[in-house]
Amino acid sequence: MAGYHTFTTDDAMRFADEHSGLFGDHSKLSCEEFGDGNLNLVFRVENDKGTSLIVKQALPYARCVGESWPLTIERARIEAEVLIAHRKLCQQHTVEVLHYDPVQAAILMEDLKDYRILRAELVAGRQYPHLAPQLATYLANTLYYTSDFALTGPNKKQQVGRFLNPELCLITEDLFFTDPYCNHERNNINGEIRNDAQQLWHDEALQAEVAQLKADFLSKPQALLHGDMHSGSIFVNDDNCKVIDAEFGFYGPIGFDVGSLLGNLLLNYLGHFGLTADNTKREQQQSYLLNQIDMLWQQFAQQFKQLLSNECREPALQNSLYQQRFMQQILADSLGYAGCELIRRTVGLAQVADFTQITDTSTRAHSERKALQLGRELIMQRHELSSINQLLTLLRYLK
Ligand code: ADP
Ligand code: MG
Repeated sequence: MAGYHTFTTDDAMRFADEHSGLFGDHSKLSCEEFGDGNLNLVFRVENDKGTSLIVKQALPYARCVGESWPLTIERARIEAEVLIAHRKLCQQHTVEVLHYDPVQAAILMEDLKDYRILRAELVAGRQYPHLAPQLATYLANTLYYTSDFALTGPNKKQQVGRFLNPELCLITEDLFFTDPYCNHERNNINGEIRNDAQQLWHDEALQAEVAQLKADFLSKPQALLHGDMHSGSIFVNDDNCKVIDAEFGFYGPIGFDVGSLLGNLLLNYLGHFGLTADNTKREQQQSYLLNQIDMLWQQFAQQFKQLLSNECREPALQNSLYQQRFMQQILADSLGYAGCELIRRTVGLAQVADFTQITDTSTRAHSERKALQLGRELIMQRHELSSINQLLTLLRYLK
């Protein structure tokens, strides 16, 4: 078999045609590369009847930086296998993978052309009432059924081994938990909040809590995470939402996926102070987001608890006091990781449109300061906040 090579549009077209019966006459196919992601090539292959599929290929380096940042193409296997595993557990809300080729590190998947990327929708101030309930279902099912509550010990350990993903985890370990808390050259700081950012570098109490969250990320293989649950990994339309882009997947703390998503909803909430000038519109959008945050946690917790009490296969873990403590710990972890997400998206390498689209730097600084303040509070107080309501209260009293 020929070795790996970077796909041209012709290669992507042939690949899609070879591995799907959807297309018919090959000569009627067309293809464009249109990925706007940071790491990979994304092609759309289409026939003259409008049937289309997506080909995503991992490059041996990070697309946004170039060949100076080499990156394993194994990430395509992780992405394909996580998406296939998650789709078995939550078909409705996981993109469908049709074929994965380990030599070309290429994935053929359904084209979500009737959907839009959630981040852009939220930045534009659009509201989807079904978002939180559907994502709560995705999280509860994918996380519960890959945990020790559902799998036998030996099977779980085999799964942990299959999804180690050291190179991509290292990116998260650095960008999430290390860079924002020191003067790192990868950081990207709005000059107007430089003093606020510097405080992070000298805040030992905060750094101790972030160390704990990082240690848990490194050593708490609770469930098969998506690993990159931000609003750029979620497609949404008027009826449904679907999760894509699981190349950061690994066995880690459940609260990391839940918290990443909460953090992104909070970033959008804070972004609207600068994105939406009209007071009424802004308040409507922010109250929608608060409601979604509340619903996301409530419905996730409710479904996860129900699975715990109805389906737990391990006798010792059926203890109801233990299960209550477990849920409390997931909440604390989720709040902590949400806090880390707020901070790293504000001062770290990978920034988000929720803030970068605020063109005036002082207006943007206003949202950014709130993100740093809220992020710190969430990390520091995560064990005291015993309900999601207390997070909402904290948000209302931000200076
Ligand atoms: P990366 O891993 O490089 O960040 P993503 O998986 O986030 O790549 O995809 C980059 C972009 O490609 C997405 O923002 C979206 O516009 C498009 N895309 C990816 N997967 C699909 C899909 N299944 N259907 C339609 N568009 C997609
Ligand atoms: Mg990606």
